[in-house]
Amino acid sequence: MWRRLFIRLNNRITALRKVRVPAGNILLILPHCLHNSSCRQDVLRSLDECKLCGQCSLAGIVRTRNDFGVITSIAGGGSQAVIQTRREDVKAVVAVACEKELFQGILEAFPKPVIAILNETPEGPCRNTNVDINKVISAIQSLLDCSRPWPGH
Ligand code: SF4
Repeated sequence: MWRRLFIRLNNRITALRKVRVPAGNILLILPHCLHNSSCRQDVLRSLDECKLCGQCSLAGIVRTRNDFGVITSIAGGGSQAVIQTRREDVKAVVAVACEKELFQGILEAFPKPVIAILNETPEGPCRNTNVDINKVISAIQSLLDCSRPWPGH
């Protein structure tokens, strides 16, 4: 519960910081458990492997990545996520994960601004999880520097 409060507080503080960066400097980082366990596409290697069938949240994620041109990465674990957030070209982060991973990730990424979104766990933790794509889109839009054209627009 306290982690959830910390995440909410972090998101408010990030909003107050009024960070605005180009899409190419926003990292959207995702947990591998969003991937439907029955899907044979190797999306961990590349999200371009996704066939957009809609059986898991990754279809919406790929469309969102293509629409905005943000950097998108699926992390196999917390340490991989940390490596990604510390990349020099990453100036702001939208992170999707469970409470524990988000809490840890926000601390590890500091002082980079992070908007954290909890995944949904209809089958329990770490398996076939979902994310509300509207929350992801809102988070990206809130960080986006609209004075610069998005790639592909
Ligand atoms: S949307 Fe379909 S093809 Fe894409 S990763 Fe999910 S199950 Fe696989």
